[in-house]
Amino acid sequence: MRGFFRSGLIYSLMSMGSLIASSPIVGAGQAEDLRLTVLTHSYVDLPAEALSEAQQRAEKVFALAGIETEWIYCSAVNTQTQDQPPCSQVQGGPTVFSLSIVPRQMAQQYPVHTDTLGFAPLQGDKGFALHAWVFFERVKELVNRHKATGEEEAPSLAVVLGHVIVHEIAHLLGVDHANGGLMKAGWAKNELKQMARTEVFFTPRQAEIVRQELLRRLRIPNVSVELSDGPR
Ligand SMILES: [Zn+2]
Repeated sequence: MRGFFRSGLIYSLMSMGSLIASSPIVGAGQAEDLRLTVLTHSYVDLPAEALSEAQQRAEKVFALAGIETEWIYCSAVNTQTQDQPPCSQVQGGPTVFSLSIVPRQMAQQYPVHTDTLGFAPLQGDKGFALHAWVFFERVKELVNRHKATGEEEAPSLAVVLGHVIVHEIAHLLGVDHANGGLMKAGWAKNELKQMARTEVFFTPRQAEIVRQELLRRLRIPNVSVELSDGPR
């Protein structure tokens, strides 16, 4: 069980750490083969444009690691769901992830620090970690605190949300916390400034872990996984 911690102390004290951002790394012959699906359950009032922007950020980070992503909105306060097949028609599998964006009262159900931005249990159904949660108000508070410092390079809520989504899904695929960058346990000023400019990417090593775990899951024959409808 892992959480994505962001404490006010870390935020205020860490400012000059170098950011680890990798160049695009694509394994030979793997670019077309590696794909994951994200079923998004949104339980918050998040405009369609913001959700779409968050998805695009996340999509780009995965793409630069050589991984295609498919995004399906299962329940969301927007109109995009009308054009998409219901999640019940999606075949579950070890590379089909559920992502729940939840409000404060739902976040309080989980045994993580009150500053945690997201939650990604290590084991899911049939041994696969498949379900991650993002705690919406905590992400908003992080963005607002950064803006309140007067920092000119301030990422939007959607941009930070996109990176939180990638961070949590990467945990589900076996990537641990790092000292800096996308997989840092608590983002500080530098990470947020970098997000305002461009994507914060996986390091080459992190990208390789994600690719290898996806390959491993894709090679397991005839695996059927029952999908969850939301937070458990
Ligand atoms: Zn984390």
